[in-house]
Amino acid sequence: MSDRVYLDHAATSPLRPEVRDAIAGALDRFGNPSSVHTEGRQARAALEWARRQVREVLGVTPDSTVVFTSGATEANAAALQGSASIGDGVTVLASAVEHPSVLGQRHVETVPVDGDGRLVLDALEARLAKGDVRLLALMLANNETGVVQPVAEAARLARAAGVGVHVDAVQALGRLPIDVEALGADSLALSAHKIGGPKGVGALWLREPDRFAPWLVGGGQEGRRRAGTENTLGIIGFAAALGAMSLDEPHRLEVLRQELERGLAMRLPEVRVVAGGVARVPHISALTLPGLPASTQVMALDLAGIAVSAGAACSSGKVTTSHVLDAMGFDYASAGATIRASLGWSTSAGDIARFLAAYDDLARRRQRAAA
Ligand code: PMP
Repeated sequence: MSDRVYLDHAATSPLRPEVRDAIAGALDRFGNPSSVHTEGRQARAALEWARRQVREVLGVTPDSTVVFTSGATEANAAALQGSASIGDGVTVLASAVEHPSVLGQRHVETVPVDGDGRLVLDALEARLAKGDVRLLALMLANNETGVVQPVAEAARLARAAGVGVHVDAVQALGRLPIDVEALGADSLALSAHKIGGPKGVGALWLREPDRFAPWLVGGGQEGRRRAGTENTLGIIGFAAALGAMSLDEPHRLEVLRQELERGLAMRLPEVRVVAGGVARVPHISALTLPGLPASTQVMALDLAGIAVSAGAACSSGKVTTSHVLDAMGFDYASAGATIRASLGWSTSAGDIARFLAAYDDLARRRQRAAA
């Protein structure tokens, strides 16, 4: 596998070496963090160290509530279902490009985005004015296009209408500064495996934890909000991944992505960068190669040793276009010809060069076949 080029970090990142070491070092520390004996207290100490790491990344106070979850899907679900103000007949607003873990929740109504995938603030304001909304759920950065949402502006509108704000910061973690105060967030979801941590672990930060009902009941773990013996190894790995994030990583990724997008513009001017003119997180590039189905592109690149993903999901042979590109007004053919290349901690300049060569080759072979 070592000669593979992995450009699908928005789906998941390989485990960072620091994370591997931290988990390996903790494998025999088996104590239950709820036990009062020495083994239990050691596990508790590791858990609370990890919680401090999350608080530090979010810039929140040491007594601020961080609940470990099984990932961002659970964190999003908990924020939407557990909010005390959400009940029958109550509306949650979400942008039309949110992750399915938000859009699939009850009472969710979508607000449109513009052609670049950004929430239409006027539409949000008009919808808030109806007075029946209790929560706004908005992602900081989109997982398919990388487009950064105007979260702070939207939160100001929501706050003025007495509406709480939940932020899905999964794709922003490690790539954009996350400041819950500047964003105006009341809750925020994170996931470990997009930054080189293990899968199946994430966190939910809550400004006012008392407004949230427990979403898993049983034992008294996580301040009685989320029952179940904590995933200590996963949580230790998550904290190690946070600790390994470097401050200059966003800049490094931006330089690599520029190389990728400029390289494509020079070689293949027919390729369009989705939302290329607006603010995006530095690790995602959605690319449309008109006329060539995304599934064909993904398979051809895979054969050439390169992992990217399709902007359209294939299920049981049926191609369904991405709800994100759909909401941005893409026609079926363009959406179906869009792939996503996403970079991360393990991406090198050599990876970008190999991607460019393989993509060039793929596009030219198609041109020859069409001639
Ligand atoms: N939100 C966004 C924006 C994501 O990209 C993802 C992962 N695809 C999730 C939520 C879900 O995270 P997890 O895999 O940890 O459940």
